[in-house]
Amino acid sequence: MPKNRIFDLHTHPSLRLYYMPWISKTFHTTPYYSGPHFNPFEFRTRYANLDRSPVKVLMNAHYVIEYNFLRHGFTRAARGAFWAFAAGYYAKLLIADPWKTLVKMIRVLNESVDTTNRLLVPGQSHRLAIVDSMDAVDRLDGDQIGIIHAVEGAHSIGAGLEKLPTETRNAVTRERLRLLKSLGVACVCPSHFYDNPYSPQVESTEIIPRKIHGRIIATRDPAITMRRAEWHWDDPDHSAEWFFNELFRMGMAVDLSHTREDARWKVYDIAEAWKRPVMISHTGLRHFFNHEYNASDEEVRRVRELNGVVGLILSRRWLVDPETRFYSGNDGIQDLIQNMLHIRNICGDVEAIGLGTDFDGMTHPFSDCFKPNQLDRVIHAMKPHFTEQETDKILYGNAVRVMKDSWVPESKS
Ligand SMILES: [Zn+2]
Repeated sequence: MPKNRIFDLHTHPSLRLYYMPWISKTFHTTPYYSGPHFNPFEFRTRYANLDRSPVKVLMNAHYVIEYNFLRHGFTRAARGAFWAFAAGYYAKLLIADPWKTLVKMIRVLNESVDTTNRLLVPGQSHRLAIVDSMDAVDRLDGDQIGIIHAVEGAHSIGAGLEKLPTETRNAVTRERLRLLKSLGVACVCPSHFYDNPYSPQVESTEIIPRKIHGRIIATRDPAITMRRAEWHWDDPDHSAEWFFNELFRMGMAVDLSHTREDARWKVYDIAEAWKRPVMISHTGLRHFFNHEYNASDEEVRRVRELNGVVGLILSRRWLVDPETRFYSGNDGIQDLIQNMLHIRNICGDVEAIGLGTDFDGMTHPFSDCFKPNQLDRVIHAMKPHFTEQETDKILYGNAVRVMKDSWVPESKS
């Protein structure tokens, strides 16, 4: 059995390749920022970092930056920096059609993979490969790193359809999903930062601890802000029930990160009816940090029951509660291990444990693991706690199983 391999359930290279106009459609970049601190211009999944990493397969979540986020989500300082770098480019983004942008992003990632492979120099041993099926994942050779297209935020899929009568909206949505699938999109994470026509979202604004009058207070991070959906699952102006059924019918994997908890429970029942697994690709656990974004013990067991997987995120902002975070540094590998151990503890096995780093997703990674070529540190740290077989399942096998069970041919009914 090949060892030390990772299937990363959630990463964002295309966010960099598409939105940073000075990166010209290649994973090769001069070593600009991928250090331990959050930086809007980082590129952690650039080629040099992947080439020397244990990453074997990664899901690239295409995220079309929401109009609301561009307008209101960033601090003025961050917005100012973007404008200073490329004013014309960002002006264009504000008026771009999110659906067309999504399709373009998929093409840009494909082109970038080709360009990256053409520009390899001696000493760089891996080739990148867009995989269009799980058979293609099985066929990857030792020198290839597989990349799977995924979509985060269904606002891009439903762009322009919000005000249409439900039946018309659903019909166009079905055609769009079919096109995405034909372009190789395997997985959809419907909710994100702001409202969309299909899936209600939690508020994902990160919580940071501050010491105010000698007490540690959990406050919302003012740097990047998001909004919780207020609409009900059965709202006639939204197509929640229909959309999730349609994803299963279409044979795409369903990722419940960012989805509001009441809606997640509805989707577990839909998944059960379809006999399909679900994933929560980049999350933490309520047991360690009680936040609506994170999964409760009961929920993790439900995901386990469905043969699904919970991808733990490489950010202490979700794995650890704010007060504990205040009194500790930002090394997180041991916290990640504690989260893994907790899942094994409540489920009795490791089948539901996975990894979704969210590298390049505007998150705050660990200071002891902030780029793919440091992921071998995680493998090393798992050794005292997990057998080699368990480690391979957690970091690779469980994700492969879930993708094989969910990325399947479209059903007729
Ligand atoms: Zn996310």
